[in-house]
Amino acid sequence: MTNRLLKILGSGLSLILPEICHSCRKGSAEHPYPICRRCRAEIFSSPSCPLSASGHITGIWSCRPYSGALRECIRQFKYRGSKRMTALFSDLLNSYALENGFEYGAADVIVPVPLHPSKLRERGYNQAGLIADILTGTLAAPVLHRALLKIKATCPQMGLTREMRLENLKGSFAVVDKTRLTGKTVLLTDDVMTTGATLETCADELLRAGAAEVKAFTLARVI
Ligand SMILES: [Zn+2]
Repeated sequence: MTNRLLKILGSGLSLILPEICHSCRKGSAEHPYPICRRCRAEIFSSPSCPLSASGHITGIWSCRPYSGALRECIRQFKYRGSKRMTALFSDLLNSYALENGFEYGAADVIVPVPLHPSKLRERGYNQAGLIADILTGTLAAPVLHRALLKIKATCPQMGLTREMRLENLKGSFAVVDKTRLTGKTVLLTDDVMTTGATLETCADELLRAGAAEVKAFTLARVI
């Protein structure tokens, strides 16, 4: 059977059979999200993370702890290209804003944590950029997708301590457009905050380039 035929059969079946939840792989996905009702309830009912700060970042806002159904959704989003999670993240972000106020949005520009070009080619999109695009619809601030670049490919950070991560990331980010950052309050975005090393390294680079203040927003945080 040709791949083309399999594809046609697959899309035909998906019209008849309910879509499996992308998070637990047990329940049926319920429109508009690619996850089931139970996973959705778990994500939306868990308490949001307390406001924090790290290094030179004056405030870090994170929607939910990085665990359970949300962790699985972020993994799917990041590694399996499930861009359909965007609707879920958009609604989570908006409900977080309603619960917590929009102080984090008091920024002049939004800057996503960049991916190295080789990673971007492999993945096809930058998850931090998609989060920035969701935020720009909620907050009155433009996204600068190419103001900050990842200029050095780095080893995977998993399993590294905070100090090792900071060392690993040294010299890996560069600001290419200082004019749009000078004197500005910047809101950095990323999907997950683990130790804060990536956000801090980016913030230091933005401040060195003339930004007045750096805040950060992440969908989830390792607690
Ligand atoms: Zn589920």
